[in-house]
Amino acid sequence: MRFATFLLEGVEVPGVYIEGEGYYPLRDILGDAAPVTLLEYIRNPLQDLSASLSSKNLNPISPDKVTLCAPIPHPIRNVICLGKNYEDHAKEIAETRLLTQDENFIPAFPVYFAKSAYPAVGHDGSIPLHEHFTKKVDYEAELAVIIGKKAFCVKEADVEDVIFGYTVLNDITDRDAQTRYGQWFFGKSLDGFCPMGPHIVTKDELPFPLELNIECRVNGETRQNSNTSLLIYDIPRVISELSQGFTLLPGDIIATGTPGGVGHGMKPPRYLQKGDIVECEIEKVGILRTYCGQ
Ligand code: MG
Repeated sequence: MRFATFLLEGVEVPGVYIEGEGYYPLRDILGDAAPVTLLEYIRNPLQDLSASLSSKNLNPISPDKVTLCAPIPHPIRNVICLGKNYEDHAKEIAETRLLTQDENFIPAFPVYFAKSAYPAVGHDGSIPLHEHFTKKVDYEAELAVIIGKKAFCVKEADVEDVIFGYTVLNDITDRDAQTRYGQWFFGKSLDGFCPMGPHIVTKDELPFPLELNIECRVNGETRQNSNTSLLIYDIPRVISELSQGFTLLPGDIIATGTPGGVGHGMKPPRYLQKGDIVECEIEKVGILRTYCGQ
């Protein structure tokens, strides 16, 4: 099933997306008992939505009439991110000397950091370029995992059980700030730097482990093209490891890292410009499109 958050009369509401039909608000399916946010539904996904949906004769909202938000516009915590988790990206970053500790460009352990997303930007939203502050805004297409259950000390073999689903995330980065301040939080967390969506696809729709093509296009030109099977540290490893000392909660978002082809790694570098259209696509998950500086 595919879940989304969208605006209805100016209010963010959760709903279901059915391909070829459109969007159904959860309150149309479930009535007064419907959760008012997708986060609330993720915490308590007990209702058999498919049966409720097919038992009612509802009219979907056409996709062209829907303004999408990020599926979780206001995450409960910062997004948990992985750095340098595809070999070709780790190598291109090492070559730019962006970071000082890159002699061994494959990290011996996963590189974890956090990113603020408040609010996260939705599909067809805009990425502010903060031109008064930086000229080096870059894209990073990533598969994001949405946690579905409270998780502490999860074994790798049991990781799929604590996952709710997946979405596409663009880990927008100010490369200047990423270098200048000696940590990544600031440069990854400028306002509008966390586009996400368009939907959350539930885990039952995708065979695990995931082997999905991942791509980023800028103005139609392919910049990143890889597959999630090439993650250095895969989803079972990452979730199991984090959960050894860090309780993961329903609605937590883990961005699994980006493949090679970021603008900063190009020769010469090519950062995002006003008017650019960025599309991050993950096979079977969706296309997240955003507009720069508008
Ligand atoms: Mg990233």
